[in-house]
Amino acid sequence: MKENNSMTTGIRRQRNVKIVATLGPASDTKEMIRELFLAGADVFRLNMSHGSHAEITLRHAIIRELEAELGRPIGILADLQGPKLRCGVFANGSEMLAVGAPFRFDLDKTPGDAHRVNLPHTEIFKALKPGSTLLVNDGKIALKVTACGDGYADTEVVVGGEISNRKGVNVPDVVLPLAALSEKDRADLEFVCALGVDWLALSFVQRASDVLEARALAKGRAHIISKIEKPAAVDAFEEILAVTDGVMVARGDLGVELPVQAVPPIQKRLIMACRRVGKPVIVATQMMESMISSPVPTRAEVSDVAQAIYEGADAVMLSAESAAGDYPVEAVTTMSNVAVEVEKDEMYRDGLLASHTPSRTGVADAISAAAREVAETTDIKVIASFTQSGTTAMLAARERPRVPIIAITPVPATARRLALVWGLHCVVSGEVTRFKEAVVNAVKAAKNAGFAKENDMIVVTAGVPFNTPGTTNILRVAPVNEKLIYGSELD
Ligand code: PGA
Ligand code: MN
Repeated sequence: MKENNSMTTGIRRQRNVKIVATLGPASDTKEMIRELFLAGADVFRLNMSHGSHAEITLRHAIIRELEAELGRPIGILADLQGPKLRCGVFANGSEMLAVGAPFRFDLDKTPGDAHRVNLPHTEIFKALKPGSTLLVNDGKIALKVTACGDGYADTEVVVGGEISNRKGVNVPDVVLPLAALSEKDRADLEFVCALGVDWLALSFVQRASDVLEARALAKGRAHIISKIEKPAAVDAFEEILAVTDGVMVARGDLGVELPVQAVPPIQKRLIMACRRVGKPVIVATQMMESMISSPVPTRAEVSDVAQAIYEGADAVMLSAESAAGDYPVEAVTTMSNVAVEVEKDEMYRDGLLASHTPSRTGVADAISAAAREVAETTDIKVIASFTQSGTTAMLAARERPRVPIIAITPVPATARRLALVWGLHCVVSGEVTRFKEAVVNAVKAAKNAGFAKENDMIVVTAGVPFNTPGTTNILRVAPVNEKLIYGSELD
């Protein structure tokens, strides 16, 4: 991404909530990824459960190419499979399982058929007992274990349906002794960190130490999103939140591991907790599920996306809809349209205000709150947050202000990472050493992106000295004018 490039282009979202789109076979060409971005995808998810390293490398390269061409920072989130159980592949790609039919899971790597499939996890066969339930494909298929032994489990289909290549398998009533990161996860983590990703999502986090383990391996190369999809993670959420950089409400597995009706209250609680500390939270899975095969969503899906936005989530996510569906672009467009409509609603504003309970403890928190206050009580067009590490901009976003926020940074990696955060329009500017330069850059960015015009007023927040993260300590109201940019008004 060339610096200042983004200042000159007009791509600007008309909404605060961000859209994460998972890439896959339905969306791995450059043309398609460009279309998804233009339709509204702010962050692309590379799912390490599917796709070879060669495919991931290619998608990554395409995103970075597009970023340079379009002049807008684009976030990349690599999602590690984690200790998720998955079955092997089928000779025919998929099979229909009928209720009452016998079906075997075993360690044989031969492609499966209507009678058996590989389940490459030795430990699971040790933990299973006759009567245990196995759930496949987000719980869509249920099988009861009738007999099991070393390396196999014979089951009977209780709820039938289509089983296909590498579908997820959950065993909710059995405690499985699994490490936080498998061998594959460690290899994938190193691979994506070397490739250069902005966020690293950890699947099936159970405790805070799982996050710390991944963080130690990432060595600062990527920030960590903890996927909350296990009952244990819900129980240990406060400790996990304290050590993670962001959170995903991973409703797919969560709704399998817990009763589905437990998911909405957990979603609300998690979003509130993340907003309180100003860490980004993504709501994921089945948001536009029917759009995998239909050009229009169900009304219930539209309401679900709207609900996550009303709750103040940072981002909503598409999984199979964009990765493997028939209508990836339509799914992004629909999500974006829902967001624009919801955010026009006065009730959206009222709701955000009513649920605004930030934990403010220091100068940085107070400055960010003041920026919102100043902007909303006067005719300020935009809050410009000058940020190096991203902290200052995330604090501005936490306030969920009515006016747009521009996150200006000399660090491209920060701009990309912040693409996930509520309301932030990220811009890469030149390196600055003095606050005046930061203000000048902010004014230019506000003008170039169309947020403000000559003689409007903007608010600028920054942390000085510039290279110390977490020091937000300046608030400046600045006029947008040529004199400021070229003259010495601020000296
Ligand atoms: P997955 O995670 O898509 O990697 O399973 C999200 C979820 O479980 O909701
Ligand atoms: Mn999951």
